[in-house]
Amino acid sequence: MNLNNASKDQLTQWEQQLSAEYAAIVARKLSLDLTRGKPSSDQLSLSDAMDGILKGNYKSQDGTDTRNYGGLEGLPEARQLGADILGVKVTEVLAQGNSSLTLMFQTLLHAVHFGFEGPDSAWRRQGPMKFICPVPGYDRHFTLCEQLGIDMLTVPMTADGPDMDAVETLVQTDPAIKGIWCVPKYSNPTGVIYSDAVVARLAGLGKLASPGFKVFWDNAYAVHDLGDSLPLANLMDLARAAGTENSVVQFASTSKITHAGAGVAFVAMSEANLKSFKQSLGAQSIGPDKVNQLRHMRLLPDLNALLQHMKQHAEILQPRFDAVLSALDTAFAGTDLGQWEKPAGGYFVSFDTRPGCAKAVVKLAAEAGVKLTPAGATFPYGLDPEDRNIRIAPSVPTVAEVVGAMDVFVTCVKLVAVRQQLANLS
Ligand code: PMP
Repeated sequence: MNLNNASKDQLTQWEQQLSAEYAAIVARKLSLDLTRGKPSSDQLSLSDAMDGILKGNYKSQDGTDTRNYGGLEGLPEARQLGADILGVKVTEVLAQGNSSLTLMFQTLLHAVHFGFEGPDSAWRRQGPMKFICPVPGYDRHFTLCEQLGIDMLTVPMTADGPDMDAVETLVQTDPAIKGIWCVPKYSNPTGVIYSDAVVARLAGLGKLASPGFKVFWDNAYAVHDLGDSLPLANLMDLARAAGTENSVVQFASTSKITHAGAGVAFVAMSEANLKSFKQSLGAQSIGPDKVNQLRHMRLLPDLNALLQHMKQHAEILQPRFDAVLSALDTAFAGTDLGQWEKPAGGYFVSFDTRPGCAKAVVKLAAEAGVKLTPAGATFPYGLDPEDRNIRIAPSVPTVAEVVGAMDVFVTCVKLVAVRQQLANLS
């Protein structure tokens, strides 16, 4: 099906066929959900052995009684795991509570309110604050900015990561720009891995941008490969070599490794930045949940054990991704109806409809019983200027449900596009 060259008669015929298919789907009264990127129950069950794993032995490797207060930085062995995931030194990482989003909020708040280089460096003292947001991106990053009064400027995502020409121009021309959001591996939602050249240029931004600028490196999918483990250049090593190590802060968590609501999150930054950050962190808490960190370390004692564990996740996820990608291929390969990436990991498939169609597709699918992430959610302020991007999250439904949901999805994409083209011709 190619719409650009189709005659009005042909389009009318397609519209009738697709409307009939859609009506048949509505009659099936489906109730399917492709909205949020969270693990399925089967994935969560992979870590159930953590329950009771301590068997009364609450001592960490260094003899700490994990039941007690203290240890603001997290257990040494948990910090080591975080260091291995993020590719930093153990002295550059903290192991904390269950949510990396919390750590992102705390890091931002620290920069805005207190300043990493003393009170005068607090962003709030320097006029307007802006962040660069590669789009499409992760909606909760945008929410963090909105909460803290940080304006957002978009740059396009490419197949190699953010458009770095655009990023470098922005940071050199606008001193209000304080940082950039990055999901460098299996980016949410496009699934791309940043190329070595892009990572090196991100590491260099600290030299081009105004003082205090930070790359917010949310490596949420660092070990979430569907197949072979794919490499990502080491941001901290590159920043160290460029003399910009104070301009990068990194995050990861076990949310999609163990139990999403009861995991361990990591934040990594230079030792100088950590010293500053720990002042506000230490005011908020005497220390994180070390018992939970110890449970994690007994289940996944090192990176190798963790990578083995991730293979089991991949076995569960792969057929769901296959179902999405084969439906898209069958329906849209070689057509002018949409574009998408084939992610090798992560939790999402990002689909671009023809311009001006995404909202209508999401609405039509909802009316047929298939919930999709709201169109626009992948852009700051919920505004997709071209109304094209739809994020598909296939992890929670069963494979059969994904197949059913994709059947609805492709019908809706076609129907909306055909109707739009007909309207354009009349
Ligand atoms: N970052 C990204 C890019 C995510 O996709 C998600 C979950 N959807 C999170 C962070 C949430 O992380 P956490 O559970 O550690 O707060």
